[in-house]
Amino acid sequence: MNKNSSNIMALAPNTSNKRETVCIFGTGDFGRALGHKLIQSGYPVVYGSRSTQISNLIPKDAEVLGHAEAAQKAAIIIIAIQRQHYNFLTPLAEVLRGKVLVDISNNLKLNQYPESNAEYLAQLLPGSKVVKAFNTVSAWALQSGTLDASRQVFVCGDDVEAKQMVMDIVRALGLTPLDKGSLLAAQEIENYPLQLFPMWKFPIFLSFGLGAFFFIYCLVLDVIYTYIYEKNNFSFFIAITIPNRVFPVMALILLALVYLPGIFAAIIQLYRGTKYRRFPDWLDKWMLCRKQLGLIALAFASLHVVFTLVTPLRAFASWRTSKRIVSQALNNKTEPLDHTNAWLSDSYLALGILGYFLFVLLGITSLPSVSNNVNWREFRFVQSKLGYLALILCTAHTMIYGGKWFLSPSAYKWYLPDIYILSLIVPCAILVVKFVLIFPCVDKPLTQIRQGWERNPKYSE
Ligand code: NAP
Repeated sequence: MNKNSSNIMALAPNTSNKRETVCIFGTGDFGRALGHKLIQSGYPVVYGSRSTQISNLIPKDAEVLGHAEAAQKAAIIIIAIQRQHYNFLTPLAEVLRGKVLVDISNNLKLNQYPESNAEYLAQLLPGSKVVKAFNTVSAWALQSGTLDASRQVFVCGDDVEAKQMVMDIVRALGLTPLDKGSLLAAQEIENYPLQLFPMWKFPIFLSFGLGAFFFIYCLVLDVIYTYIYEKNNFSFFIAITIPNRVFPVMALILLALVYLPGIFAAIIQLYRGTKYRRFPDWLDKWMLCRKQLGLIALAFASLHVVFTLVTPLRAFASWRTSKRIVSQALNNKTEPLDHTNAWLSDSYLALGILGYFLFVLLGITSLPSVSNNVNWREFRFVQSKLGYLALILCTAHTMIYGGKWFLSPSAYKWYLPDIYILSLIVPCAILVVKFVLIFPCVDKPLTQIRQGWERNPKYSE
């Protein structure tokens, strides 16, 4: 009788206002936190535990029974137990037949087992309907109510009705279920909480690599070279001068690297005459982390702004100013205002300010809360058109910084160019190619290809 009634319970969708009892196996951290939240949402909760003694930690209105007894009271059983203990469920197979078993478990390592925990549970209990859910929500977030950042709950399972029942519970808890399909998706869902900023890895490694390279480059040219040839000890440059030379270079190069994969993609599509062939893997991956590259570039640009603003406060800057004034006083001669220089320095600052403003705008529109509120055309306008404008302004800002200095032999200590010259290579190359790409004779076929036209259609009749 029990067996049949549980089957019926398992299949009946929750239509009445009265919440059905939910059973939780395991009175550990997660079981208790979830039980507490379920009781708050109006669900009667019964725990299946190895010990039926009520402890203070267990939610007040919950019942604690032995596993078999607790399972008989509910159609849905949440297994809040680590995978390595799942064997204890095998003797309960008959009681659990037809029930919906919710696997919430996580592993310690990516792909720790050949099959996902949920598939393993389904193999142990073939008569039950296993659904994977809740593993991306932490016990702490459930308990403290700080679920704002993780409202999404991935759900997957082979039985549609069972999955629906679990999604109803997820919604009742104020969370958002996201149906990921069959139980085959469980491995991916289990790997999800174990990933450490997957999209940030490449941009962060690249920034560290490039940053270290440019820092050492500046150290060699600005400190070591000056020490060897001019006998000047400028080692204090390490604190502000060198970082403030590296930050803008990093910002400009990383911003350029946001737009470089788009240029490669356009060239590949033009060459192939179709958009229906996959890009190489490296290009796909690069395209996916453009937002992260752009945000890191914005962080470097912001550091450059702050470091530049503190420059007049530095002892070195006031020493240089007073030295110039004293030398003018001693020579009894004031330097005339150089209008060309004044123009250059004002344009340099204006371009930097405008470029930074657009940079910030790009960063703000990449935030999900903002990008979700603009349509695709608006998003593309900001990220592509205004993004290129930001690249043009920042490139011009850097060019004016150098002025004609790149023509002077003193700009090439040990025959090495200054880093601002190096930083211009990629952005200038991108802007030149982009200029070619917007010519109608190139832009027209590219637009057609992106709208689905093929030069040599494979399946033409
Ligand atoms: P836990 O605190 O270690 O609790 C696990 C519970 O399993 C124990 O309290 C115990 O309950 C039961 N148990 C232990 N050994 C057992 C055995 N040999 N046989 C039967 N039952 C046994 O673990 P937890 O943090 O609550 O995590 C439970 C599950 O939720 C794990 O699979 C974990 O990956 C998943 N999860 C946890 C979190 C989190 O934030 N903690 C987040 C997402 C997913 P009784 O003493 O009542 O029998």
